[in-house]
Amino acid sequence: MTAAEPEDGPCDPTAPEPPDGGFLGELSGVYREAIVCRRCELEKTRHRVVFGAGSSTASLMFVGEAPGAREDRLGAPFVGRSGALLDQMLDEIGRQRGDVFIANALKCRPPANRNPTRPELAACRPWLDAQVRLIRPRVIATLGNFATRLLTGSDAAISTVRGRPQQHTLGGHRVWIFPLYHPAAVLRNRALMTTMRTDFLALRALVEGAGLPR
Ligand code: SF4
Repeated sequence: MTAAEPEDGPCDPTAPEPPDGGFLGELSGVYREAIVCRRCELEKTRHRVVFGAGSSTASLMFVGEAPGAREDRLGAPFVGRSGALLDQMLDEIGRQRGDVFIANALKCRPPANRNPTRPELAACRPWLDAQVRLIRPRVIATLGNFATRLLTGSDAAISTVRGRPQQHTLGGHRVWIFPLYHPAAVLRNRALMTTMRTDFLALRALVEGAGLPR
């Protein structure tokens, strides 16, 4: 399953509008191509492609698993309760959504939030690689097991790798990957909130160039 939120309530009417393609430079062209993508079967069931949103020059990028129902309807990432928690965590480290870039590994919602398939992930991967290549973030924070395993190539559980930066090459760009619990997991288990706060403070230090492992 994708990282569904604990309660799937009605669509939030105050949720942000989807990105208007106002990205800088080449990312704008990638956005226009991606939002009409038909590279895999999910194009038949999605309502909207959820490309991602935020700054085209962000030093910090978040990558989750796949859009949920709200995101699919709005075309924007992390717009429900998980998104609200992500916003809160960003606020606590002095940042806002406009300062970062938020995306998912898969740009279209799998029906009923089922797990993405390998062919879907393979078809969609060039969009994520293009985002990393063009945005050139210093740090990519992976949200939850799925995104972390996909981007690190390791099966290690999020509970053992969270809060520990790893260097990888993505989209031809050397980047720090910083695994975090998915906000939906923290909403389901509030005992993880303290850990998430600790990890976000470490994330800020990493983005600012401090606290790098030797
Ligand atoms: S999931 Fe990715 S590859 Fe598949 S249709 Fe959507 S954007 Fe294209």
